[in-house]
Amino acid sequence: MISFDSILGQEQLKQQLAAAAKDGRHSHAYLFTGEKGSGKKLVAKCFAKALQCTSEGDKPCGKCKSCLQMEEGSQPDVIFIGPDDKDKIGVDVIREKVNDDIIIRPYAGPYKIYIIDGAETMTVQAQNALLKTLEEPPKYACLFLLTSSVEEILPTILSRSVRLSLKPLPDEIIKNYLMSKLRVPDYKADTYVAFARGNLGRAIELLEREGFEEVKQQAIALLKSMDSADMGELYLKASALGKDKNDEVLKFFTIWYRDALCYKAMNQTEGLIFQEEIQYIKKVSREISYEGFEQIFRALDKTQELIRANVNMETAFELLFVAIRDCKKE
Ligand SMILES: [Zn+2]
Repeated sequence: MISFDSILGQEQLKQQLAAAAKDGRHSHAYLFTGEKGSGKKLVAKCFAKALQCTSEGDKPCGKCKSCLQMEEGSQPDVIFIGPDDKDKIGVDVIREKVNDDIIIRPYAGPYKIYIIDGAETMTVQAQNALLKTLEEPPKYACLFLLTSSVEEILPTILSRSVRLSLKPLPDEIIKNYLMSKLRVPDYKADTYVAFARGNLGRAIELLEREGFEEVKQQAIALLKSMDSADMGELYLKASALGKDKNDEVLKFFTIWYRDALCYKAMNQTEGLIFQEEIQYIKKVSREISYEGFEQIFRALDKTQELIRANVNMETAFELLFVAIRDCKKE
């Protein structure tokens, strides 16, 4: 059930929205910002549910007709709009689903709420059309714009909206959720948490994505063969992983060396991500000096830059592997 309690983290934001729903003091337009997977839609839905709730007490009550309709996705006065299959929201959609519709009074609830997900995909014309409504919305109207890239929203829209940012979640909250709700074992949960960087949606997406574990194993295999294999062969193997996997492989490399550095500094294995490779991590930590680790992290950053700049991947990996190998020789 959607309730403020069911949303993880975002304590301040939840309090603010719950209070606004309770005392009826709220704006006509909100802009929810946050990365993809950060929970914007859930928060917006919950706020819409609370606004439409007819209970006298805490909202959303979860029991009134409107709350039940929200759960079923059949609340007639909460309208969802999102990008089409070309990943755009065109001007016609805004005219038809917002501007022409908003003049019709709410069917049952106190408000008419429009939730525009992926607001950054609105074309400039669409945004300008929406602006007309934002300038003079009917009293009962509420518009929620959800976006992961606020820089693509026109300043004239921004200035008419109350901006609410979703914050990254603490690692413990994500780990706890993965372990208790999704039954991810402890040692695996740490990997997903490291990749999620405070974004629960990303953690879940990786968990569901086929091949993520495989990329991890490929990354480990590459790291382990660093000492023995022929270098040319290594570049080929690394670049053969394909461009879409490279970011993840590099992230695994970074976590691997960060683990080794942590072990070198603290001499304890608690908190390390590659728990199942602990013997190897210890070995790496002995082989590389502090200065060597610095060089490796610099090389990892550089490799990432090169790959993003579409440099030949073999070249990018060559730079990295040579740096790593040089560090070990010292
Ligand atoms: Zn209710």
